[in-house]
Amino acid sequence: MDTRERALQRLQDEEFDLLIVGGGITGAGAFRDAVRRGLKVALVEAVDFAFGTSSRSSKLVHGGLRYLENREFSLVFEAVSERRILMNIAPHLVNPLAFLFPVYEDSKVGFNTIRAGMWLYDALALFRAPKTHKTLSNKQIKESIPLLSQEGLKGAPLYYDCATDDARLTLETILDGLNGDGVALNYTRVTGFVRGRDGRICGARVRDTLNNEAIDFDLKATVVINATGPWTDRTRAMGSGGERLLRPTKGVHIVIDAARLPTDWAVVHTHPDDGRVLFTIPWGDRTYIGTTDTDFHGDPAEVAATRSDVDYLLAAVNHFFPGCDLVPDDVIATWAGLRPLISQEGSESAVSREHEIFVDRDGLITIAGGKLTTYRRMGAEVVSKAMAMLAMLGQIPDAQEAQTGREPLPGAVGWPEDDDVEKLAAEVRGVCDAIEPATATYLANRYGTRAIDIAKLALENQRLRGQLAEGRPEILAEVDWTVLRELAVTVSDFMVRRTQLYYRNYDQGLGATDIVAERMGELLGWDEERRTEEALAYQAEVARSRQWRTG
Ligand code: FAD
Repeated sequence: MDTRERALQRLQDEEFDLLIVGGGITGAGAFRDAVRRGLKVALVEAVDFAFGTSSRSSKLVHGGLRYLENREFSLVFEAVSERRILMNIAPHLVNPLAFLFPVYEDSKVGFNTIRAGMWLYDALALFRAPKTHKTLSNKQIKESIPLLSQEGLKGAPLYYDCATDDARLTLETILDGLNGDGVALNYTRVTGFVRGRDGRICGARVRDTLNNEAIDFDLKATVVINATGPWTDRTRAMGSGGERLLRPTKGVHIVIDAARLPTDWAVVHTHPDDGRVLFTIPWGDRTYIGTTDTDFHGDPAEVAATRSDVDYLLAAVNHFFPGCDLVPDDVIATWAGLRPLISQEGSESAVSREHEIFVDRDGLITIAGGKLTTYRRMGAEVVSKAMAMLAMLGQIPDAQEAQTGREPLPGAVGWPEDDDVEKLAAEVRGVCDAIEPATATYLANRYGTRAIDIAKLALENQRLRGQLAEGRPEILAEVDWTVLRELAVTVSDFMVRRTQLYYRNYDQGLGATDIVAERMGELLGWDEERRTEEALAYQAEVARSRQWRTG
């Protein structure tokens, strides 16, 4: 993998077949696909990979049972097929999760309709869901989730989808592309487009935003794809794109201690006020609840939870889990993201999640909408469009589609056949037995087989075995690994998207800021002033996520 300096130099010196703007899951999927087809590809991301919606989703790889209600059968079919593929190519990141769907006497949709929907859902997955659905007795439900309201409960089918780590899925997709000849760089923002004499876009003006003295340069590429999610319209506005394509809607999640709402299963429930579907999702030592769905008109970079978002989610949880009595002080962390939905009239929740591809008259290809789950297909589709354009320009003959559904992501190479993560954890401890068992399991789940390389770092340097927060599995060696091999260049990159200390630790990782900044500084050559700036920037990010507390 190129160093940042080398990658920057390549972006300035070389000519690319394809430039992808945006390093969320959509851009990442296109990048991996295009590299694997043999194109010469560059990807530039304004902040960090998955900085936008792709680290702020509900973290599910799912068919979207609720889309059956809107009769979006092809979307569901596509998504459940992708779920199967992603379980195969990223078994460390895409794990089966059971969902309980309690139906009450006053539920908007009746028990039989829900069960019919479940059969259809399993059928669309060709009965190859992680497991087929079943119906539980009220007694079984009470034993498993004692806090769930039993009043008027008519029954509760249990069905299966998958949970993931959205930011890491994005990152590993990019890293796979970097194993080929692609160049992908974070903290490089497109500030304008470069045009040829015929008016066609043939590159972009790019700014390296990492250093205080910003560097601007032109990046030359025959075809440019806009994969900037909620920023889609802003990016098109730099070209010839006119009318607004998007209707971004905000979705908020809250994180609480699992001990306050213990559940082995995700629970699907509807909000008592407006009937919208919400999820309560088990997340190891935490549980998270989401999401809201409201139109958003501001700057996508500033999206954050408000007090009314948090109150709305707490009201739903307290209604369905009556003994739970959650209050705002129980909320450890929040996250807010924007759905980059294609503009449509009607209520926010009714807007289709399908993606679309648009080509502007200056040749800019835009892909918008869609879901995390379907990113691989979206990538293939938009790259095929780019290939057709390249062929039209006489540059490259139309090529076969890439086999992205067969090749494992980097952490899945060598993954145990029987999916037993503990085998891998044992290998991690075999390399460095000073690593605690809980940390070994955590590393294996998070980094897949690359956990072994992290164990090697810890073996070589005892200091790197140090815990980052009391009672938690994260260790200092992850700083080294993510800086050296995963393009982490700020403290926020590490806390929010390489690890999840930001979401999971009671202090959102603030207590670990100095030690992380110090080690990153040693690796990246920061002086004292830069370390302080980095620590302050992270503190400001945490403060922004907590603004809802004070209004
Ligand atoms: P983003 O992830 O936002 O990526 C766009 C990137 O472009 C950003 O990183 C941004 O920094 C960059 N960028 C912007 N401007 C520039 C520029 N000028 N130069 C360079 N880079 C730029 N889908 C699922 O399948 N499962 C779920 O459980 C799920 N839950 C969701 C829950 C919520 C609350 C939301 C909001 C969405 C959810 N989705 C889910 C949908 C899914 O998360 C999104 O469709 C997907 O993440 C969008 O990815 P993207 O790459 O298009 O956009």
